[in-house]
Amino acid sequence: MSAEANKPSKNRLFFALWPDEAVIEAVERMRGELGLDQGRPVPQENLHITLLFLGDVPDETLDDLKALADRLALASCEIVLDRLEHWVRPAVLCLTASEVPEPVAELVNQLKRGVRKLGFKPEKRPFRPHLTLARKVRRRVGERQIEPVRWPVRDFVLVKSDRDDQGSRYTILGRWPRSREAVP
Ligand code: ATP
Ligand code: MG
Repeated sequence: MSAEANKPSKNRLFFALWPDEAVIEAVERMRGELGLDQGRPVPQENLHITLLFLGDVPDETLDDLKALADRLALASCEIVLDRLEHWVRPAVLCLTASEVPEPVAELVNQLKRGVRKLGFKPEKRPFRPHLTLARKVRRRVGERQIEPVRWPVRDFVLVKSDRDDQGSRYTILGRWPRSREAVP
């Protein structure tokens, strides 16, 4: 079989906020201070805040998602992660924000509206910004307020998620607004 024929026709995708170096450092410092030793820590390169999970997306829909992102605006703002929470059912330990900045809430709403028009059925639950620090956390961990981690929000990304022996591997496929483009 040719390499072409082996190419998957679907990818697991999600829109997210991706931390810059300074935010990663601040999160790692907080992770150290909290002294967490439970579950499976999320590797530094995988830290993110999911805006909208899409699931399996056929290749031919990728351009539509990018065109949607092209049309959306995101005013600069700041997410303040001010709490450690243990979500028992998904068994994750995460940093959460008590307040959702208006520009981020608006972006998530527009993403939901946009992907609905493309045939997706986005999550109905209200958006709760969270940065997962560890998974498979099955023993109780006390929730608490933390010294806030400030995350300046300038752009958002579309990410592909692959799984291998090491766990999840993420690839950034695009970054918006385009005017601030620094990567894919
Ligand atoms: P793994 O599944 O290997 O533990 P992961 O959850 O980080 O790792 P994905 O399952 O690909 O990798 O998920 C990518 C992102 O989308 C994560 O932030 C995850 O929490 C979120 N996500 C995954 N599934 C859903 C879902 N059904 N609804 C909402 N968000 C989801
Ligand atoms: Mg998962």
